[in-house]
Amino acid sequence: MSFTAAYMGLSHEELKEKILAARELLEGCRLCPRQCGARRTEGEEGDCGAAKEVKIASYGPHYGEERPLVGFKGSGTIFFSHCNLECIYCQNCDISWEGRGREISVEDLAGIMLKLQDKGCHNINLVTPTHYTPQILEALAIAKEDGLVLPLVYNCGGYESLEMLSILDGVIDIYMPDLKYFDPEVGEKYSGVKDYPFRAMEAVREMHRQVGVLKVDENGIATRGLLIRHLVLPENLAGTGGVMEFIAKEISPDTFVNIMRQYRPAHRARKHPPLSRSVTHHEWNQALDEAARAGISPRG
Ligand code: SF4
Repeated sequence: MSFTAAYMGLSHEELKEKILAARELLEGCRLCPRQCGARRTEGEEGDCGAAKEVKIASYGPHYGEERPLVGFKGSGTIFFSHCNLECIYCQNCDISWEGRGREISVEDLAGIMLKLQDKGCHNINLVTPTHYTPQILEALAIAKEDGLVLPLVYNCGGYESLEMLSILDGVIDIYMPDLKYFDPEVGEKYSGVKDYPFRAMEAVREMHRQVGVLKVDENGIATRGLLIRHLVLPENLAGTGGVMEFIAKEISPDTFVNIMRQYRPAHRARKHPPLSRSVTHHEWNQALDEAARAGISPRG
């Protein structure tokens, strides 16, 4: 099956327009639904901690992602520093909360994309990219000129603005958002934003409109579509039943959904019961039952 990344269909001018539109959102930053208005181009830090320059924690072929992304040569992950959510249980709090990483230029970022392609990775997996989307688009324009052809994976926490997503229409082939909570109060308490379910659900609807359900090639490697991650939390704090019903009814029962069991208390979670413990067998089985009731078969 021949595959062409979505952005290959964009002319130089079209990509430039998208860069300008994204850059405009960066002026008094409105890249994510927080709309904190930080003057990042002047060096000010936003609520997410990001400032002017792109900061990355690491990059390389990654084999721990979902099977259709990993294939046999790995997913070409680029881990961006900072995050627009403040999950008190984040496993990567040194990167997300503390901003561990190094500043790089958009030219360097383009070079990293090409390096990952040269290593044989199946995709460029942008991990927590939301606050750097203008710079990612600039890097993409450079990398495309220099021969990048791999699909882009937009791997995010789900807290996305429709305005930003409309700019990414025709650029991103694979969206991989989290759907963390069904109850807004839980989202506010544990991730620091009042409107998480509303924003994440409208974002997922838009992502699905752009790319549809997941498609794979003859080797089972993802080429285009939506994958959703849902982490089961103790005492059903994630609202698994409601999330699964939303996916089945408003997106598609054929959606690729990775229901994840690996919750462990990290960062500040040890002081916040019931997040201070892992998920029990009973809670896990209950989550799977709720997914089955909604008509969702989990994949990973
Ligand atoms: S991406 Fe960061 S700086 Fe921009 S609006 Fe969101 S929190 Fe603020």
